[in-house]
Amino acid sequence: MPQEPRRNRTIVLASRPVGMPVSADFRLETLNAPTAGPGQVLLRTVFLSLDPYMRGRMSDAPSYAPPVGLGQVMVGGTVCRVQVSNHPLFAVGDWVLGYSGWQDYAVSDGAGLVRLDGAQPPSWSLGVLGMPGFTATMGLLEIGAPQTGETVVVAAATGAVGSVVGQIARIKGCRAVGVAGGPEKCRYAVEALGFDACLDHREPGLAQRLAGACPAGIDVYFENVGGAVFEAVLPLLNPRARVPVCGQIAHYNDREPPPGPDRTAQLLGTVLRRRIRMQGFIIFDDFGPRFGEFRKMMGGWLAAGRVHYREDRVEGLERAPEAFMGLFQGRNFGKLVVRVGPD
Ligand code: NDP
Repeated sequence: MPQEPRRNRTIVLASRPVGMPVSADFRLETLNAPTAGPGQVLLRTVFLSLDPYMRGRMSDAPSYAPPVGLGQVMVGGTVCRVQVSNHPLFAVGDWVLGYSGWQDYAVSDGAGLVRLDGAQPPSWSLGVLGMPGFTATMGLLEIGAPQTGETVVVAAATGAVGSVVGQIARIKGCRAVGVAGGPEKCRYAVEALGFDACLDHREPGLAQRLAGACPAGIDVYFENVGGAVFEAVLPLLNPRARVPVCGQIAHYNDREPPPGPDRTAQLLGTVLRRRIRMQGFIIFDDFGPRFGEFRKMMGGWLAAGRVHYREDRVEGLERAPEAFMGLFQGRNFGKLVVRVGPD
């Protein structure tokens, strides 16, 4: 008897956002699932990662990666199970880390797929053992180059990247100071993640409070956010401070440059006088070949209980747009992951 074709729910880009994304920028479509050809596998999505960079893919402004086309499936990292295999290196039932986007099914020729070994829960490969953890580790260790006794500051401190930055700073013997949205996140950063201090950026007087929490100034500022946090950090940067420029989430939905005088000269003057080193990076472009090395190192820290990980799990592909939009309001508490299908 012929089998019913599998149905594939997809979330496509319906329109390019102007400012903050809205629900109408996304559309749920249901199609027949693709079939695996020779040398291919059919992947069934179990977990989908939601990340701030996806805002950039929704825009057609020039960037380091091409935009998602209108009507195309939103891109994203996924943890999948191999449903059908015509590929010699993958067997039905294998767990794999891939990049199959906001949908139930996708075919792959195996390029870029990482088979997961089961040492840790599969979804962790979207967070602490995946792209965000890799970003935090390489950005901090290779660009931030923290030395024992130095002060490291990071915002979005309980999120996917920031939580790992703070914990590695502590492993390296640094003072770790976080910035996060709300008292519950700040308490968690100190009590569960081991930050020395964490400041709520929603409360007034951030600059003064940050100065109080960093009595010896700031040696490494891991830039995740921009905006008011960066303004509070700049006067506190020590001579020869390092600033890995990882992200600027406070600006991803800007419609125009912020009002006020142009302060580029003030920024560059500070960089010059204090001999500050700022370096942007795009994780897989700059450090891609070291992903395996990172996974071994992070696997060791996790197994030894030296790194703690928190996932914010959302149930159902249809809830992905709403959950994604919440990233820009701090609604996630930990790494944001969608459960798309059963194990
Ligand atoms: P998170 O899991 O930390 O989620 C985003 C968090 O950002 C929110 O929860 C919120 O936390 C904070 N936030 C949002 N808007 C603002 C704002 N206006 N001011 C201050 N904080 C804000 O995200 P990720 O850890 O995945 O990403 C962190 C940063 O790293 C992003 O900028 C991202 O683009 C960047 N990144 C860069 C990579 C690269 O290769 N360069 C790779 C991966 C990520 P809170 O409630 O605590 O304020």
